[in-house]
Amino acid sequence: MPCTPFRLPGGISGIVCTRGRKRVHRCSVDGCSAPSGFQCDYQTKPGKTCDRHLCAVHAHQVGADVHFCPAHLAESSGKKQGDLFATTTHED
Ligand SMILES: [Zn+2]
Ligand SMILES: [Zn+2]
Repeated sequence: MPCTPFRLPGGISGIVCTRGRKRVHRCSVDGCSAPSGFQCDYQTKPGKTCDRHLCAVHAHQVGADVHFCPAHLAESSGKKQGDLFATTTHED
């Protein structure tokens, strides 16, 4: 656990310890263990996205802040993207 000593101008001093480990997600692509900075935004069903963790190499940007995993990039090519992201909210 990294602890950082500090001293304030008023004579107060102490130590700040960084608590809790940051969960580092790894890229979900087989054979790739790079840290993930992205998640697949492909909509698998209304209101649900794939959410696979992807590194910068495997996250394929398809729009503004929209990324697909390699599998869904392949699946979506040929399909109309507009349909996938159309909101399907039904209020009865
Ligand atoms: Zn990767
Ligand atoms: Zn995906």
